[in-house]
Amino acid sequence: MRGAPEHRLDTVVIGGGQAGLAAGYYLKGQARDFAILDAEERIGDAWRRRWDSLRLFTPAALSGLPGKPMPFPGGHFATKDETAGYLEEYAAKFDLPVRLGRRVDSLRREGGGYLVGAGEERYRADNVVVATGPYRAPRVPDFSARLDPSVVQLHSGAYRNPDQLPEGDVLVVGAGNSGAEISLELAVTRRVYLSGRDTGNVPGGVRGRRLPRHLLLAWLAGWWLIGRVTADTGLGRRGREFSRTRGTPLVRFDPRDLAKAGVERMPRVDGVADGKPLLADRRALDVESVVWATGFRPDFGWIEPPILGGDGYPIQHRGAVDAAPGLYFLGLPFQHTFFSETIGGVGKDAHHVAEHLASRAEKREREERQHETTAAPS
Ligand code: FAD
Repeated sequence: MRGAPEHRLDTVVIGGGQAGLAAGYYLKGQARDFAILDAEERIGDAWRRRWDSLRLFTPAALSGLPGKPMPFPGGHFATKDETAGYLEEYAAKFDLPVRLGRRVDSLRREGGGYLVGAGEERYRADNVVVATGPYRAPRVPDFSARLDPSVVQLHSGAYRNPDQLPEGDVLVVGAGNSGAEISLELAVTRRVYLSGRDTGNVPGGVRGRRLPRHLLLAWLAGWWLIGRVTADTGLGRRGREFSRTRGTPLVRFDPRDLAKAGVERMPRVDGVADGKPLLADRRALDVESVVWATGFRPDFGWIEPPILGGDGYPIQHRGAVDAAPGLYFLGLPFQHTFFSETIGGVGKDAHHVAEHLASRAEKREREERQHETTAAPS
């Protein structure tokens, strides 16, 4: 675009959530010329925008980014705003070059590197790290459009608190962790139906605001053990498929808590009859509102190089895309381990990506020097 600002950098990181900031920490350590572009106006907004009562289900001891632990006791479950604040402090502490208000809308290969478009701006870079988050595009079944217009519909990504919904019965679709947490909160003020198959639960649910010390030790051991299962193993590949297609298990509570709170379990929702949600057992539910806690789908349509697999996720190994050298991803569900998308787990992947990027850059420099030497007249 003529007259549009154009910047030349070594590396562009797209997304300034935990994954992009962790990448920034390591790139800064390599003294690279880079920028982190983020669509939001404030670091941490992805967290601020989640529902009001949300707390992390990972204790602070397991929710730290490289170089700066969370500033809370190890067992503390941070609120979403504390988490957002932590990310903001993190970027400030390491003086990470985050450029806010930049929504990247195109990425293409050009001249051995990449051209990143963000509105009017253009960024040329040898390397690009895509860290735009695993939860971007809400997944809602097509038949939702046939629900009666009087039924208020909301995706869990837009849910904040019960006041958004009219009084009266509500159907929450999707019984993973988000759907179950939202159901418990809504059940205080109304009749709640929760539809969908059980997604299991983490044993020894982590109730309250802080994990007791003995459980914290068990969590640390379990984290270490589960973290050893990587996507390079058969078990890891099954875990990856599971984490990309199924709801997350309940962490803070178990199905008995739902029953105690009066949440009524229902089969799957299969369609719509007379404008009402239709269950797999052919019952149509008369509800005032529906919350779709049906997850998210990948959203990489703005990336031009053909690097996506059949499931819509990029084909990569530990973040590096073989088909597009210099292009990296971070924070994908089960990118390398189950913890790749968690705050406490993304640092390890970011370290690997930064090391890969550095060795590629060194190799290119070496080749260029060699080329110059052989091309120079003797
Ligand atoms: P995000 O936080 O989504 O950040 C991505 C950033 O990229 C955003 O700032 C966005 O503005 C920006 N962006 C996106 N697209 C573009 C674009 N095209 N151009 C420019 N910028 C762009 N993990 C835990 O470890 N513990 C927990 O307890 C926990 N609880 C969770 C609870 C919920 C309800 C959810 C949904 C997730 C939870 N997670 C938890 C998982 C994970 O930690 C979060 O999803 C986290 O936000 C992922 O971080 P991220 O940096 O990969 O992506």
